[in-house]
Amino acid sequence: MIKVTMLGTSGSTPTKDRSLPGVLLAYDGNSYLFDCGEGTQMQMMKFGANISRIRCIFLTHLHGDHVIGIAGLLRTLALNNREEELTIFIPRGYESRLKSLIVFDKAMIKYKITIKGVRSGEIYKGKNFSVSAFKLDHTVATFGYVFKEGDRFKFLVDKCKALGIKDQMFTDITRNGKTTVNGKLVRLKQVTVAVKGKKIVYASDTRPCAATVVAAKDCDLLIHEANYAKEQEPLAKDRKHSTAQEAAKIAKKARAKKLVLTHISARYRDTSQLLKEARGEFKNSFVAFDGYAIDI
Ligand SMILES: [Zn+2]
Ligand SMILES: [Zn+2]
Repeated sequence: MIKVTMLGTSGSTPTKDRSLPGVLLAYDGNSYLFDCGEGTQMQMMKFGANISRIRCIFLTHLHGDHVIGIAGLLRTLALNNREEELTIFIPRGYESRLKSLIVFDKAMIKYKITIKGVRSGEIYKGKNFSVSAFKLDHTVATFGYVFKEGDRFKFLVDKCKALGIKDQMFTDITRNGKTTVNGKLVRLKQVTVAVKGKKIVYASDTRPCAATVVAAKDCDLLIHEANYAKEQEPLAKDRKHSTAQEAAKIAKKARAKKLVLTHISARYRDTSQLLKEARGEFKNSFVAFDGYAIDI
C-alpha cells in the first residue's frame, strides 16, 4: 500500500492552519518527500511520520516556500546520527544554490548528501517503483513528479488449488514462469492475474499544462496546485499558478481517479468556493488540509 500525507498545503506564506508545501509518500518501509517548505520536519513529527525513513527528497523548484525546510530537516537528521545517504533532486542548474542552503553555517553533517539535477524522464528507480520528472509551466524551471509502482501479478487461489500447485512450486513458477505439476506443465499466465501498479502525480507550481495531462494519464491520484479561485484567474495567469477549476480540468482530461488540490493561497480561509469550482469539472476533487492522509 502507498500512503500519501499532505504535510503542508499553503502556498507562498504559511497561515495558522496551513504550513508550506510538503508531500510525504510512504512505500515499503521507506519515505519519499516531495518539496520541503519551512516547517516540514515539524509537520512530519506532528503527523506521526518518522523523519529517519526519508530516502530521497524531490524538489519541484527553487522557490523559498518549497525548499527552505531543507536546512532544518538535514540538521535534525545529522543530530539523530543518520548514516544512510540522502539524495535530493532539484531542477538542473539549481544544484549549487541548493547546496548553499545546506552548507551555509558549516554544520556537522556526516551522512552523505547527493544533489542530482533533474531533466524530464525517469530519474530514480527503487525496488518495484520508479520516479519520473516532467516539465511544468511556472516562473522558474519547475518539474512535476510521477511515482509509478511496477505492475505485479496475483495468484488465482482456486485455480492453483485445482491444478495442485503448492509449496515450492510457487517459488518455481514465480522464478521461471512455469512449473511441472504431476508431470504436466503449468505456465504462470494460467494461474495469475495482472495487477496494475499505482500511479501518483504531483504538479506544483504551474499553469495548467499538457505535460501534466500526459504524465497523469489514468493515475490513481493527482495532487495539483490550486492557488486561486476562478475570480483570480488573471492573477493565476500572471503569476503562473492555477485555479481550482483549471486543475480539475487537467484531472478530467487525464482521467485521473482522484484529485487533491494543494498550495492554497493564504487569502482563502474558507475553501468551499475552490471545492465547488473544482467539482463542477471533476467530481472526485478534494481540497487538501495539513495532515490529510490518503491510502492508495
Ligand atoms: Zn509555491
Ligand atoms: Zn513557485
